[in-house]
Amino acid sequence: REPRSAPLITAPALPGWDHAVSGKVRELYVPAGEDLAGAREVLVVATDRISAYDFSLAPGIPDKGRVLTGISLFWFEQLADIVPNHVISADDVPEQVRGRALRCRALDMIPLECVVRGYLTGSGRADYERDGAVGGHTLPAGLVEASRLPRPLFTPSTKAEQGEHDENITVDQARERLGGDLVDRLDELTRAVYVRAQQIAAERGILLADTKLEFGFSRADGTLTLGDEVLTPDSSRFWSADAYREGVAQPSLDKQFVRDWLTSDASGWDRTSGQEPPELPPDVVAQTRDRYIEAFERLTGREFDPEG
Ligand code: ATP
Ligand code: MG
Repeated sequence: REPRSAPLITAPALPGWDHAVSGKVRELYVPAGEDLAGAREVLVVATDRISAYDFSLAPGIPDKGRVLTGISLFWFEQLADIVPNHVISADDVPEQVRGRALRCRALDMIPLECVVRGYLTGSGRADYERDGAVGGHTLPAGLVEASRLPRPLFTPSTKAEQGEHDENITVDQARERLGGDLVDRLDELTRAVYVRAQQIAAERGILLADTKLEFGFSRADGTLTLGDEVLTPDSSRFWSADAYREGVAQPSLDKQFVRDWLTSDASGWDRTSGQEPPELPPDVVAQTRDRYIEAFERLTGREFDPEG
């Protein structure tokens, strides 16, 4: 299962599609001659770019984009009875990006990162330490790193402009910005997705600590629709159920390897220096790729096919 080709880092020219925008990981295309504001369809292409500690790393992880696309497709299907999603086709896409591209309904994206947390970690824990609350939900005292929360919490954040950080806001602040009815629907849907996904992941020995969803309104008929990627290692924290221990930082299934190398003496990089991290050596790239593939295989129960 060696990679079939070099990592895809930049947006390739694709017949029938015009490149519209670059995200951190994905490239968005519209049908040739159309523009993003008016298009009814988009092509979402996941590249092999990877970031850690807010830096984009070189040289990228071969097949990472395929893994992310495969995992998203799996979840979109598992969740289809809870929420409609943007996928039109994974097959009817340009040959060159097959496996990493999805033809999707164009959505008017809602400017909110719909975060749901089942465990306390990351910025949620920082908020808890400061306020005793996360996303405006008051929590009992005495919770520690990786504590399971009494119930899954909707803890939205703003969708930051390129290069800026997302900012956690309370549910009430989200309601003020977007309207109470919409935020109530997003809250309910996001938690329903979490509950279902957490069950499925648990059957595979994986704890879903938290995840982030993005919704939009379908241009065709206004339906509230799940977009972007879902429940991938990039948008979620997956922990190994076997190794779970309250009170300590849990190793993540995918990026931990890269993070550990970057902060080890071997990399020669000082995280506090503000300088770009060094190029990843081939064995770090290969082992990180293995971790992403393992996440795909454990979650979907299918073997990863680099040709597929
Ligand atoms: P991050 O997801 O980490 O916050 P980003 O937003 O820069 O970073 P990418 O996921 O690389 O993200 O890029 C995908 C972009 O495409 C996002 O801005 C997302 O909102 C947008 N998008 C996803 N699905 C659709 C869709 N069906 N219609 C229109 N835009 C979409
Ligand atoms: Mg995104």
